[in-house]
Amino acid sequence: MKLLEGKTAVITGAARGIGKSIALRFAAEGANIAFTDLAYNESVQALEQELSAFGVKAKGYASNAANYADTTEVVNKIIEDFGRIDVLVNNAGITRDTLLMRMTEEQWDLVINVNLKSVFNFTKAVQPIMLKQKSGSIVNMSSVVGVSGNAGQANYSASKAGIIGFSKSVAKELGSRNIRCNAIAPGFIVTEMTGALPEDVRKGWTDKIPLKRGGTPEDVANATLFLASDLSSYVSGQVINVCGGMNT
Ligand code: NAD
Repeated sequence: MKLLEGKTAVITGAARGIGKSIALRFAAEGANIAFTDLAYNESVQALEQELSAFGVKAKGYASNAANYADTTEVVNKIIEDFGRIDVLVNNAGITRDTLLMRMTEEQWDLVINVNLKSVFNFTKAVQPIMLKQKSGSIVNMSSVVGVSGNAGQANYSASKAGIIGFSKSVAKELGSRNIRCNAIAPGFIVTEMTGALPEDVRKGWTDKIPLKRGGTPEDVANATLFLASDLSSYVSGQVINVCGGMNT
């Protein structure tokens, strides 16, 4: 029996990176996949095909997770297409790193809206569906810097810390309705987001990691699979660090 057989998962920001990896891991475990990203383009179409090859239903949707109306609309479309939502992975995220001294209001607002408001938008839109189904698992992508803070990332760290508070609150609110909510705090994961960092910054990070390597998107996808599936049926309101032992 596959771990997500017959379940439908919604994953935001899944055209590439960690979200894409989660979509592939979930599809391999039998989940039908509805995924979003900013645009419906060739890479989204290619991922639809890659996912369908697992024998599951898969569809990509263009939607700005930071926009409340967009989110309500896309969740309605997903329900029309898939009929149910068992798992929600709030993965979409961006960085606009700079020291507070130079950070503009736009950089602050954008990161908070894309990273944190999006989690509110999707959780709010999916909540009535999970309540009706009397079950659900919500997994929110935080970050180790949401736990520890990081110079040059005040906006990003605040958004990721906000996700942790939100996740713990939702776990308390919805636990009695058999809906679980957890967060994952990835450390340094090698994706296009972190690939853009200069070589010396990347080396500085890996030197500090006890496992002596950056994580892979698959490392994060495996932890997400655990939280999405019934393997974690008594786990809620928690933050799992996927960071190679780099507790700061
Ligand atoms: P990525 O940039 O490779 O992928 C992010 C995806 O989200 C992209 O496809 C992008 O188009 C999409 N996206 C951006 N804004 C969006 C919006 N408003 N609506 C919908 N989609 C949007 O990043 P990644 O490294 O795969 O990161 C995925 C998540 O993991 C993010 O939340 C990130 O903060 C978190 N994270 C990453 C790392 C890391 O080291 N890579 C570490 C900790 C946490």
